[in-house]
Amino acid sequence: MNSPQPTFSFELFPPKTPEGLTKLSVSIDQMNAVGPEYFSVTYGAGGSTRDCTFAALDLLLAKGIAAAPHLACIGSSRDQIRAILDRYRAQGIRRLVALRGDLPSGMGLGAAGDFRYANELVSFIRQETGDHFRLEVAAYPEVHPQAANADQDLANFQRKVEAGADAAITQYFYNADAYFAFVDRCAARGIQIPIQPGIMPITNFSQLARFSDACGAEIPRWLRKRLEALGDDIEAIRALGHEVVLNLCRRLLEGGAPGLHFYSMNQAGPVLRLWRDLRLPGAEGL
Ligand code: FAD
Repeated sequence: MNSPQPTFSFELFPPKTPEGLTKLSVSIDQMNAVGPEYFSVTYGAGGSTRDCTFAALDLLLAKGIAAAPHLACIGSSRDQIRAILDRYRAQGIRRLVALRGDLPSGMGLGAAGDFRYANELVSFIRQETGDHFRLEVAAYPEVHPQAANADQDLANFQRKVEAGADAAITQYFYNADAYFAFVDRCAARGIQIPIQPGIMPITNFSQLARFSDACGAEIPRWLRKRLEALGDDIEAIRALGHEVVLNLCRRLLEGGAPGLHFYSMNQAGPVLRLWRDLRLPGAEGL
């Protein structure tokens, strides 16, 4: 069901300051040296990071690197989304990550805009731009935190596929079985698109625990306990995190995952260590 050639990509978030952008430029050069398929750039729902996302994309495009902007629809009108699609088309962008997004706190439901769910965005993009963009959507092997239940979440994932998604990137997870079970359940429903595992390196336990609570990703108890025991020993946390995530990546690739999408958090070091130890294409110079 999955494409035979695995692909590897990096995700960035858009810095808010010119100094942040300068630092990002250095990280991009380091990561780009291994030849990823593309870099994706996140986007704050309601347009909250729009100009910063544009700036990070412009930086990638100026370097001649394939860029895939994320586009979150909640809080936006059709006209606003259309204007962004026009801009991306004019820039020669061919890949998007189409999302609902979460409204920033403080933006009430009244600001929900013209789209309720990501499947509506996927339909809209197809209607407006045909097959111009390759569309990636989000998938949740451990179930989206707002889903009524796992079956409905899967049915909602299928809506995005039927609306025209070409591929999916998962929320991060540390339990390979959750991924394989999700892929099997998709196959049983006839969902054929590649489902790329999203890989989050472990470098800072308290930050990861906060993120994970918010997005519904589970840190297994044994891992949480081992990380907690390391207290503030950053080096030891990084070493354990590297070993655990490396083993996860190996299992995923051996089990047939169609590649990996690394959540770089704009830091080249942790993702390039994984790249090197996985001996992915381009790792020779690391
Ligand atoms: P949807 O697919 O719309 O699902 C949202 C919820 O609604 C789920 O519980 C689903 O089961 C339910 N649902 C879906 N469709 C329907 C329907 N038709 N009827 C009833 N219920 C439905 N957020 C950002 O703001 N910016 C980003 O750049 C960003 N990048 C991300 C990248 C990846 C790879 C991932 C996995 C997530 C990313 N997110 C980002 C977070 C994402 O926006 C949130 O998880 C958000 O809550 C859901 O977005 P979605 O596109 O998965 O929504």
